[in-house]
Amino acid sequence: MSLNIPEHLRVYVNLTEQEDMINLFKCPVCSFRTQLGPGALRMHLLLKSDPMVETQYDPAHEEYMKTTEFTIETVKELAVFPKNELKWAR
Ligand SMILES: [Zn+2]
Repeated sequence: MSLNIPEHLRVYVNLTEQEDMINLFKCPVCSFRTQLGPGALRMHLLLKSDPMVETQYDPAHEEYMKTTEFTIETVKELAVFPKNELKWAR
């Protein structure tokens, strides 16, 4: 059974081979990947977008976040889909 992930959210996820679970969350701007969940991805985007965070800041991320709403609501939307928990527990 394939996950019915809305089009606007697909850019943030990698599915398992069977496409029945989210395998990884991914940054649409860089090669950042995380298994820690959508909240961790949002934190990555926020830190990378903030010029005050000098060690993390990246203009491409800031530009992306200006045009894209990756809010707490987005995190909640992503959080309802099943994740590859078995893999994460290892
Ligand atoms: Zn990134």
